[in-house]
Formats: sequence, C-alpha cells, structure tokens
Amino acid sequence: MQSNTPRNTKPETALRAALHREGLRFRKHHRPFRSERLEIDVAFTSVKLAVFVDGCFWHGCPIHATFPRTNASWWSTKLARNRERDVRFGELLREGGWTILRIWEHEPLPAAVQSVVLALRELRDTKTP
Ligand SMILES: [Zn+2]
Repeated sequence: MQSNTPRNTKPETALRAALHREGLRFRKHHRPFRSERLEIDVAFTSVKLAVFVDGCFWHGCPIHATFPRTNASWWSTKLARNRERDVRFGELLREGGWTILRIWEHEPLPAAVQSVVLALRELRDTKTP
C-alpha cells in the first residue's frame, strides 16, 4: 500500500502537546502489529487506548469533507481506500483488545482532550483490579 495520510498534522501535534500538559504520557506513532503498517497517532499502551486524529478531508468527515474536482476518479479511489483502511485497522485493533477513540481535526482542542481523559479514566476503572 502506498504511503497514505500525512503525519504530524497540526491538530495532531496540538493534541499531543495538550495531553502532555495534562501530565499524560503516551507513545506517538505507535505500531502495535509488527506485520502491519498501522500506526496509532497517540497510544496509551498500558490500557490499550488508541487515539486517532482524523483529518476532515482524508477521512471524509461528514461536515467538512470536500471533493476535489481535478482527478476526481483518482481521488475517489484514494479516499475510499483510506476509509477501508480505517475500517480494517479498526477491526485489527479491536481484535487485539484495543479501544479506539477517533477525534476529528475540527473538534475543539479542549473537547478532544476531555474525550481522551474520560476514555482513559473509564479504561483504568475497568482494567485495574
Ligand atoms: Zn470536519
């Protein structure tokens, strides 16, 4: 598979910085499966929480997805593949016991941080004996 979505996008970097300020520690661009090119944007490996920051364009956000007019069929194939890949990786992760949290790049940063904090709290509550 071709290299796909851009790494270290602005919303992704901003989220990581904000999580860091919250005192959270995580791995970035974590690859949970050796055989796959799947990378988790922000991974909390102890509780297996996988956070993805999805670009509105690349991942087809229902609010902002635009469709390029030039090379329309190339783009349509490319974006469809992205979505298929999201679905397939999601399945792999869930099979591996991961919880997935997807955040759209258009979500305000404080709300995104809040989602991560809440997800972590929930996972810690259920997973700690
Ligand atoms: Zn959007």
